[in-house]
Amino acid sequence: MKPVRLVFSHLARQVVGSNIATKLLSNVLRQPRILMLHGVDGDPQGIRLLRANLDFLSRHFRIVPLEEIWSAETKRSDRRPKVALTFDDGLRNNLTVAYPLLKEFQAPATFFVCPGLIDSGRWLWNHECRARLKILDEGTRHQFGEEIGATDGAVEATIRHLKYLPYAARLNAAQRIRDLTPAFQPTAVDQLKYDVMSWEELKSLDPRLIAVGAHSTNHEILTGLPAEVLENEVGGCRTWLERELGRPVKHFCYPDGAYSVDVRDCVGKHFASAVTTRVGWVPDAPALFELPRIPADGASLRDLAWRMQRPGG
Ligand SMILES: [Zn+2]
Repeated sequence: MKPVRLVFSHLARQVVGSNIATKLLSNVLRQPRILMLHGVDGDPQGIRLLRANLDFLSRHFRIVPLEEIWSAETKRSDRRPKVALTFDDGLRNNLTVAYPLLKEFQAPATFFVCPGLIDSGRWLWNHECRARLKILDEGTRHQFGEEIGATDGAVEATIRHLKYLPYAARLNAAQRIRDLTPAFQPTAVDQLKYDVMSWEELKSLDPRLIAVGAHSTNHEILTGLPAEVLENEVGGCRTWLERELGRPVKHFCYPDGAYSVDVRDCVGKHFASAVTTRVGWVPDAPALFELPRIPADGASLRDLAWRMQRPGG
């Protein structure tokens, strides 16, 4: 029986090789790309998918650390376009599922993490609120939606509404959800999806392969925060990570991709670059605090191959 990797390598060649247009474009379009990932599934299918995608990327692109994306450095002998891998949120499955595969392919990546969550072991507030809202009965959920001014009681609509409430109102609403769900116990499936890495786990990552970036202290949506809270979420995040890790933390990722001129200026005081959720290739001479990315969560090999050439479509 062929090793799994060989079978998928063959499959990847077939899929990509079958699309002449994609192949031609990849010869022409040499613009660097940054991929955006979050959690990864640790079941056999999820692992196969990620392995196939890394196999495809490592053959058709040069996987580089984030800061090499905008450096003028080029390897004359290697004309493949550059791609950088980024994983947001510091989820434990990045360590248990993605990291072994990144090592296997010697693929560098940046993990954007939130030190406040690592320290407390808490989930991102939106993950926690989502899981708690799901166990509320429909009537209570609707009533809560009305309380906070959400248009309907559906879970995702409520989360979207919560994200852009004023800071103090959002904190109150999140606490109200906790009060409404005192018996909440995360399921094993939720834990695999939403648990974040501990400090020990983060420090166990090989710094030659994995760069740690900042994703705000507590994953707050940064637009509309009071100035001192914004400074703590941005500058405080960097100070905390550098103190724990004992090395510089140079790159930032806006939670939910949300930024304003004030947020961007604050990030610019503390970091060398910031990635967004804007979809696209990295242009020549990019705005370093508005770097676009290509979403790749759960993408099939065919989807990924397509998005690398047509990020928006
Ligand atoms: Zn995030």
